[in-house]
Amino acid sequence: MAPLINLQIFTFNIFQEKTYLIYNQYKESILIDPGCSTTAEEEQLTAYIESHGLVIKHLLNTHAHIDHIIGNAFIKQKYGVPLAMHAEGLPLLAVASQEKYGFTAYQPIAPDLFLVQGDTISITDCALDVLYVPGHAPGHLAFYSQALNICFVGDTLFKGNIGRTDLWGGNSSLLVERIRSQLLTLPDELIIYPGHGEPTTIGAEKSQPFFV
Ligand SMILES: [Zn+2]
Repeated sequence: MAPLINLQIFTFNIFQEKTYLIYNQYKESILIDPGCSTTAEEEQLTAYIESHGLVIKHLLNTHAHIDHIIGNAFIKQKYGVPLAMHAEGLPLLAVASQEKYGFTAYQPIAPDLFLVQGDTISITDCALDVLYVPGHAPGHLAFYSQALNICFVGDTLFKGNIGRTDLWGGNSSLLVERIRSQLLTLPDELIIYPGHGEPTTIGAEKSQPFFV
């Protein structure tokens, strides 16, 4: 029998960023990219967590763009959960680069743990393998579960598109190379959950013009 894993998806902030909350039958959870940027969005997230009795075991960032990390400080302070990301994302945490997007309440917090390719983040019945997929942003990671047939890909690969590479530290040839080597080699039926927009599959995105 397949493990009982739940996935709750929130859409937060002006960039319509996707925040992913994974949890098991024991109420252990993993929170990926908390984009909650207002009190109302924070309350939406905490109301869900608390009404389901969830305990957040891991707080992960695919990458350190502001729309994916704006809720880090709130979540860490409220639930005391360690923050994990790739060390190459550290320069992006600086306040100066955030204000032009209007996130004036942003509070930078330091990660507690640095992830690299090959690490695994686990709760019971759910193990996420860490994939290194820079190019959209330095130190960009994806989180992949073969057993659950899901992958959280941040802003690397979208339905019908790939991530932009015109922001600080972006590199289009690196992005395409890492998508090819790390994501397109995964099963065609794998469901990928991007940082914006709808889920899709590896098979559906293989034919994008960037890869042919
Ligand atoms: Zn991004």
